[in-house]
Amino acid sequence: MPASSSFRLDQGVDHLVVGGGFAGCVLAERLASQLGRRVLIIDRRDHIGGNAYDCLDDAGILIHRYGPHIFHTNSAKVLDYLSQFTEWRPYEHRVLAEVDGQQVPIPINLTTLNKLYSLQMDSHAAAAFLAARATPMTEIRSSRDVVVSQVGEELYRKFFEGYTRKQWGRDAGELDRSVTSRVPTRTDTDDRYFQDRYQCMPQHGYTQMFERMIDHPNIAFLPSTAYADVRDVVPHDHLIYSGPVDEYFDFRYGKLPYRSLRFEHSTLDTPLLQQVAVVNYPSSDVLYTRITEYKHLTGQRHPRTSITREFPSDVGDPYYPIPAPENAALYRRYEELAEQTPGVTFTGRLGTYRYYNMDQVVAQSLTLFARLAQQTSVAA
Ligand code: FAD
Ligand code: UDP
Repeated sequence: MPASSSFRLDQGVDHLVVGGGFAGCVLAERLASQLGRRVLIIDRRDHIGGNAYDCLDDAGILIHRYGPHIFHTNSAKVLDYLSQFTEWRPYEHRVLAEVDGQQVPIPINLTTLNKLYSLQMDSHAAAAFLAARATPMTEIRSSRDVVVSQVGEELYRKFFEGYTRKQWGRDAGELDRSVTSRVPTRTDTDDRYFQDRYQCMPQHGYTQMFERMIDHPNIAFLPSTAYADVRDVVPHDHLIYSGPVDEYFDFRYGKLPYRSLRFEHSTLDTPLLQQVAVVNYPSSDVLYTRITEYKHLTGQRHPRTSITREFPSDVGDPYYPIPAPENAALYRRYEELAEQTPGVTFTGRLGTYRYYNMDQVVAQSLTLFARLAQQTSVAA
C-alpha cells in the first residue's frame, strides 16, 4: 500500500475498485477527492495505468508496454479533468501504410492516391477518382461495406483486407461498421490520423499522470492482486469492476471473444527508424500489423530508438472486444446479469465490452461518478 493512504484495509473500504486503468483510477480519484470515500484499487498487473501504462526500457527510452496510446478528444471536460494531473505535449498523430513497396499516408488522402497511382490530381479529381471506383450500396452493414462503398475493392484490398484479417482474425465483412469507420477517407492533403479538437500527450508520460491521480490519503493501490485474492478478505460496501464482465460471472453464458496482441519490443542502434510514429503493414505476408517508434510520441532525445511490433493473437490478455452482432447479443445477456447484481458497478472497456478510446473511458467514469454522487445525495 502506498505510504500516502491513511486507513487500514482490514477495517474495510467504501469502494473496492478492480482494475487500475482509466476506468478504475478516474472513479477512485473522484470518489476519494469529492466524497471523502475510502477506496482500494487492485490490479493483477504489477503496475498502475492499465493498458496505457508506460515505462523506461533497458535503454532508458520511454515506451508504452501495451502498444501506442495517443490521446485525442473533442471533450474539453475530459481534457480539463486530466489536466489536473499532467501537463501536455502538443502532438498530432500521423501514420504511414506500406503498400506496393512504398509508404503512403493512411487515412487514404489526396497524397496517398497521387503517390500510389503516379497522378497529380487535385481534390476535385480525387473525389471523382474515388466515386468512379466506389461500389454503390443501399445499406452499409459491415466494416467491409464502409470501405468498399467509399474507395472501391482495389483500395480496400490494399489497405484494409489484410490488416483487418490479421488484427481481428476475421474478415471485415464479419465486423460491425463501427470498426473501419474509425478510419476516414479524405480527398485533401490532411494527413493527421485524428481530427479531434484536442490532440496531445502527457508531458511526463501516462504512468506519472496515473500516479498523481491516485496520490490521495483516501486511496490505496495494491498491484499484483487479483479480485479473487481480496474478494472475501477486504470488506467493501461497493464494488467497481473494470475487468472482463464474462469472467466476473464465471463465463456463465460462455466466453465473450476478445482479441489479444503480442508485443515485440526492441531497441535499435540508430537515432530514428521511421518518418512517423506508426507505420502500418496491411499485407498478409507480414505477420505484424504495425511498428511504433516511441520517440515521435514522446519527443525524447536519445542516441538509440525503441520500437514495438504488434502481432495479433487469439490467446493472451484481452485487449479488444470484437464488435460483431453475435458478440453484442452475448454481451447483452451479461449486461442483464450485471444490472441484476446489487452493489456492483461494471465499467471500462472490458467491464462494458466496448471498443472505447481512452477519452471515452474517462467520460464514462465521470458520468458514472455523477450518478453515484447523486444516489448518495438522494439517500442522505
Ligand atoms: P484497462 O486499461 O484494460 O484496465 C483494466 C485493468 O483491469 C487491467 O490493468 C487489468 O489487469 C485489470 N484487471 C482485469 N481483471 C482483473 C481482476 N480480476 N483482478 C485484478 N485486476 C484485473 N485509446 C486511445 O484513446 N488512443 C490510443 O491510441 C489507443 N491505443 C490503443 C492501443 C492498444 C494496443 C490497445 C489495446 C488499446 C488502445 N487504446 C487507445 C484504448 C485504451 O487502452 C483504453 O480505452 C483504456 O486503456 C481502457 O481503460 P480501462 O480502464 O477500461 O481498461
Ligand atoms: N484498419 C485497416 N488498415 C489500416 C488501419 C486500420 O484495415 O491501415 C482497420 C482495422 O480493421 C483496424 C480498424 O481499421 O482494426 C481501426 O483502426 P484503428 O487505427 O482505429 O485501430 P486501433 O488503433 O484501435 O488498433
